[in-house]
Amino acid sequence: MSLSAKTPNMNTTEWIVGSISTMMSEITTIELEFLDRVRQFVASEVLPFTRDWERDEAFPEDIWRRLAKQGLVGMTWPKQRGGPGISCEAFCRACTELAKGDPALAMNVAAVNALVIGHFDHFASADQIDKYMPGILKGEIALAWGLTEPDAGSDARRVKTHGTPIEGRPGYFHLNGRKMFITNGGRANLMVIMARVSETELTAFLMETAQPGFTVEKRIQTIGVSASNTVQFKLENAVAWHTPCKFEDAIGLLDRGRLAIAAMAVGIAEKAFELTVEYAKQREQFNRRLADMQSVQNMIADSAMELEASRLLVQSGAQKFDRGEKVAKEASYAKLFASETANRVTNRAIQIHGGRGMTREFLVEKLWRDAKLTEIGEGASEIQRLVIAKQVLR
Ligand SMILES: Cc1cc2nc3c(=O)[nH]c(=O)nc-3n(C[C@H](O)[C@H](O)[C@H](O)COP(=O)(O)OP(=O)(O)OC[C@H]3O[C@@H](n4cnc5c(N)ncnc54)[C@H](O)[C@@H]3O)c2cc1C
Repeated sequence: MSLSAKTPNMNTTEWIVGSISTMMSEITTIELEFLDRVRQFVASEVLPFTRDWERDEAFPEDIWRRLAKQGLVGMTWPKQRGGPGISCEAFCRACTELAKGDPALAMNVAAVNALVIGHFDHFASADQIDKYMPGILKGEIALAWGLTEPDAGSDARRVKTHGTPIEGRPGYFHLNGRKMFITNGGRANLMVIMARVSETELTAFLMETAQPGFTVEKRIQTIGVSASNTVQFKLENAVAWHTPCKFEDAIGLLDRGRLAIAAMAVGIAEKAFELTVEYAKQREQFNRRLADMQSVQNMIADSAMELEASRLLVQSGAQKFDRGEKVAKEASYAKLFASETANRVTNRAIQIHGGRGMTREFLVEKLWRDAKLTEIGEGASEIQRLVIAKQVLR
């Protein structure tokens, strides 16, 4: 199949916005088939329910099993370990597709794959992998990644949660502290927790949540991605299993995480853009379609261009990751540009929808609220600029 050809199941808008980057894709045929299945899953099991999930502030109970059935829970688990070993480029595309159906779900899948599955791949022992990975890959063990605390956000090294070795149980620690803004935190069975083990040394642990030392203190209500279970929790002598690693290496997984959040931003922007193009073609004022008015065309042109640039930044960063190269700068380029693009594109989408754009009847208002997360989660835009400047100026 020619990758630049218009495929029969794409509508014209999808083809236009996807054309340039598709031509340069290194995605394999097997991955293309996987992405087709993801698209079908989104069309039948995600997009039709996105409003319900937001209203209920929850995904269905069996969501992780359903995601696992589609191969979306452990897609980044490497081939040499018996996983699908989907490339970073295809992983990012999957996050984009999911975000077109439900951004909150895309955020969860992005974080689980980049951060938790990535953590297992790099730092877990054979015993830890044997104990947990089979259940994770079946969607039986729900996951979360806990770094942020009330006093440690952008400045991650301020983490106060403290780990103390448990006497007579080598490799096990008691954790004490508090974590905040943790995605899927009230639903997860197992978490990766960042904690301090001395004045200067931070590291990471695996912690089961079904234990007396773990208490969810509050569900955090957010303006967007509200279906996602975002919580604050307390750890009081919570038993955790050490995954020996340097803190910098553990949070280095955020490079792929940021590419995935950028891909999520692309999905949000693409969906808003597609809906807006359709709307502008059918809505008439002054005996003309909105699409025929130059100021509307300018907004559409800017959105199309910024979307394409975002997609290319995600793609080139992901391809570099797939070549085994360092991508700190590229991940920040992609996250910064794609997240700010998603916010501009969804804002323009509401503008072009006029009053209807501000109502719950049209999806663009939800996409606009969901887009905000991409400028904050996994490092706010200001931090991405710091990362870029540090790389450029060194
Ligand atoms: C819905 C949601 C889900 C999340 N999920 C998770 C999760 O699963 N796991 C997890 O660990 N965390 C999670 N987070 C936390 C997220 O990563 C943090 O919110 C983010 O890193 C920013 O930290 P903060 O909120 O403490 O803001 P702060 O660090 O207090 O920053 C506030 C503002 O100051 C700016 N700022 C801070 N330092 C500087 C600086 N040096 N120079 C310039 N500007 C600066 C920031 O960019 C920001 O604009 C989630 C957050 C949200 C909203």
